[in-house]
Amino acid sequence: MDTKKIFLNESELPRQWYNIMADLPTPVEPPLHPGTGQPLNPNDLEAIFPMPLIEQEMSQERWIDIPEPVFEKYLMWRPSPLYRAYSLEKHLDTPAKIYFKNEGVSPAGSHKPNTALAQAYYNKISGTKKIYTETGAGQWGSALSFCCAQFGLECKVYMVKISFNQKPYRRMMMETWGAECVGSPSSETASGRAMLAKDPDSPGSLGMAISEAVERAVQEETSKYALGSVLNHVMLHQTVIGLETQKQMEIAGDYPDIIIGCSGGGSNFAGLILPYVKDKIEGKEIEIIGVEPNSCPTMTRGKFAYDFGDLAQLTPLLPMHTLGHNFVPAAIHAGGLRYHGMSPIISQLLISNLIQSKAIPQIETFESGITFAKTEGFISAPETNHAVAMTIREALKAKEEGKEKVILFNWSGHGLVDLAAYDDFNKGKLSDYKLSDDIIQNALKDIESLPKPKQFKE
Ligand SMILES: *Cc1c(COP(=O)(O)O)cnc(C)c1O
Repeated sequence: MDTKKIFLNESELPRQWYNIMADLPTPVEPPLHPGTGQPLNPNDLEAIFPMPLIEQEMSQERWIDIPEPVFEKYLMWRPSPLYRAYSLEKHLDTPAKIYFKNEGVSPAGSHKPNTALAQAYYNKISGTKKIYTETGAGQWGSALSFCCAQFGLECKVYMVKISFNQKPYRRMMMETWGAECVGSPSSETASGRAMLAKDPDSPGSLGMAISEAVERAVQEETSKYALGSVLNHVMLHQTVIGLETQKQMEIAGDYPDIIIGCSGGGSNFAGLILPYVKDKIEGKEIEIIGVEPNSCPTMTRGKFAYDFGDLAQLTPLLPMHTLGHNFVPAAIHAGGLRYHGMSPIISQLLISNLIQSKAIPQIETFESGITFAKTEGFISAPETNHAVAMTIREALKAKEEGKEKVILFNWSGHGLVDLAAYDDFNKGKLSDYKLSDDIIQNALKDIESLPKPKQFKE
């Protein structure tokens, strides 16, 4: 009988994270101070992050030890299983072999606790009492709430208002883990009040919520801020996914020809691919594809430029693919992919041609999610469905070409708290959004006056 899923023993959980910074052929350009436009100094970040995370953010060391307390708590759900998608293969009648890494087994239901746990730990040992953060549909907020409870930290989450109103279950999860959650824009912060003055009915956005969380974090001595994606230290923590997967694929006796992940800020994608990017730099042939929504096409239609991570322009300037910090994406259900920017590491890999990017319309992602649910059983998060859809496209292409490709994708999370989205789809209420070039060009105007990275392209 063929093996359906591959488990690792707890003793095989990696003891170190992998830092791609040590191996990049072209280094990531430095973040800039938002006021002076000069390369950021570690001390500039001290108001919002604890020192160990700032050091990881700037580290060039290839391997970084996973602290014992983080390792022990990883064991709550790690190592996560790797599955072979036999039923999906059969349904598609493809010669391709499809594997997926199941990151939906964490208590919060996604890959996000991989970094939330590490961030909570480093804050705890640095004397932080309370962490402020933002969340879109609630995946990050719930992951951080869970992990703050593990290390006895207070947690406050600014949740994008439209989700806060329409998707109460993740708020309830956050509150169950002891965190406080408010809709953003709120009247609690100067940036929130400014946004409400402009538009009292604002549905909010991730960029707005980040502004509120950062503003609060810098006001209190023992409070810090945490970001769930985009930054280098987040990508670092997520590499535990790919390091486990490499061991599991070896047990399966296969090596991936194609690796796929959905990409919002880039963290689950990076987590799976970075250890394989190292192989690729060393000569392996692998096709690596990041998938984003048609309606928030950061990598496929955005610019590689310096931009702020948030609307109120409080964060450092990051060298990344961006649609402009004022870009407000359509209200698709994949809330975790509705971000104007992208991880600088992923952006650098893209301009170094080590990875590719593709965009997919919303309806195809749900159709694919339904196919996956009917064959493999699991109901995917709407974000994850972007990776599922690209996997199906590649498996059908392999069928056309008659090639036995090995396809590996990251199943970043389950969709059991997103069933309203499936309900909308099943009732025919979902639509695809056309995004005109004019809207993108307009949003990009707002970053024209910012400094340009060396590798900037018009
Ligand atoms: C948040 C989220 C994403 C997108 O974030 P990345 O940082 O790009 O990984 C994707 N899938 C799930 C399930 C998420 O919760």
